[in-house]
Amino acid sequence: MTFSLRRSRACVFVLALAASGGVSARRPPALPAGQLHQLNSVLWMQRSPEYALLARSVFASAQAALPAALAQPGSAAAEQSSLPPGAGAAVIVDLDETMLDNSPFQAWLVRSGAAYRPQDWDAWVARKSAQAIPGAVEFAKAVTAMPNTTIFYVSNRECKGPGACAAKQATMENMRTLGFPRADEEGAFLFKGEEADERGDKVARRARIGRAYRIVMLVGDDMRDFVAKEDADLLARRDPALMARAADLVGRRWFILPNAMYGSWVDRLGKTPAAMAEQLTPADLPARRR
Ligand SMILES: [Mg+2]
Repeated sequence: MTFSLRRSRACVFVLALAASGGVSARRPPALPAGQLHQLNSVLWMQRSPEYALLARSVFASAQAALPAALAQPGSAAAEQSSLPPGAGAAVIVDLDETMLDNSPFQAWLVRSGAAYRPQDWDAWVARKSAQAIPGAVEFAKAVTAMPNTTIFYVSNRECKGPGACAAKQATMENMRTLGFPRADEEGAFLFKGEEADERGDKVARRARIGRAYRIVMLVGDDMRDFVAKEDADLLARRDPALMARAADLVGRRWFILPNAMYGSWVDRLGKTPAAMAEQLTPADLPARRR
């Protein structure tokens, strides 16, 4: 039997199997299209050793930089114009995709094809089942072990005004279980919506902490964990002055975790989240790198 004959017979077999439903029956059902654009990024964050080791290396670098950040004058936050005399030091960290891994929620969006809805996110927070980002607990403990240094968790997890906050209570319990320091102190957590002056970009919360502490370090996965929305937008456009300031701070007072799943970088694409998979096209790539 010649190679081409064997190949053609194999093709006939495969076609017959497919026609009988034998091939398709072994395949899992096709995923709904609505959130498929997320699949690659969720897989990378859940499966790749590179992501886990990169996160660990960011936290290890931040811990190594902490003594110098404490010893040298200055602030990590633009919102801090004057430093309180004799103030203690504060390290501000974001929560989602900085200290807490919510990739199971993103994976659920992919599998279900559901558009992001705040009530589904609230249900995920209430489950208290986020895991720690690799290296996050160790870093938080190292911060609190430094003399006169306090960690603050500044998150856009949302409270509906001052007073009792279900999201905060659930998050604190989740983080207590994971071993994070200060997880039982409500004052360590500054959530979106607790105060009337707050914006999603955390400016007012950084300013509030900065009135009592010298902010020596910021850790986050989105530029809005570091600067106001307007400046984050300018950084996205590679504004030279802001890029120079950021380059001076990153690795010294700013430490950035990778997040390929979501963030203000996605929001700037200007797409409707519910229809992202259909709306993203190669035209969304930067023209000079397409
Ligand atoms: Mg985050």
